Amino acid sequence: MAPQAPEYTGAVASEPETPIDEEDEAQPDPEREARRLVALAQIRQYPDPVLRMRAREVEAFDEELAQLVHRMTQLMAGADGAGLAATQVGVLRRVFVMRKDDNGATMALVNPKLVGRGDELEIDDEGCLSLQGLLLPVERPVAVTVKAKDPGGADVELELEGFAARAFQHELDHLDGVLILDRTTDEARREAMARLRQRSAPRGTTGARL
Ligand SMILES: [Zn+2]
Repeated sequence: MAPQAPEYTGAVASEPETPIDEEDEAQPDPEREARRLVALAQIRQYPDPVLRMRAREVEAFDEELAQLVHRMTQLMAGADGAGLAATQVGVLRRVFVMRKDDNGATMALVNPKLVGRGDELEIDDEGCLSLQGLLLPVERPVAVTVKAKDPGGADVELELEGFAARAFQHELDHLDGVLILDRTTDEARREAMARLRQRSAPRGTTGARL
């Protein structure tokens, strides 16, 4: 079994490098780790076919949606993730939650659309809560303009850059059944697939899911 990356943080792994929580990283808190595993157990893992399905537009901005957003926000936080799409919890609705920055502020976007992108592209490593332990290089536009609704149904228009732009694009991909495996280099994909195959191979491996 390949070990998990020690500093795995979810959808967006590397940027920005803020030296906060040094204590946490130096000595992992067993309670926090237990919470993380409980949250991860509720998040669909590759190759669950739901991760390949396209989510449908949200039509009702109701209590059910609010509850879904609440649950997803809790799960993302519990799993130490930077973003979580509804498809990852088995709900085929176009909604995701993501961190706006490294300070922990989160937002929920419903029926999100990418309406503009800058010319500059950047390659950075991305992780995914549905592909635990993998970090794959993905090239994406550095800046994007997006439109969405908030969970109350109000229009949202945002200019996102860097971390937030990457997180948005990663989560939007989830709503279309696209994973970082599809966006990375051929070489990284081959390596990742080999690791994934190893992981789902015969019983007795740690982390087996039933
Ligand atoms: Zn993901």
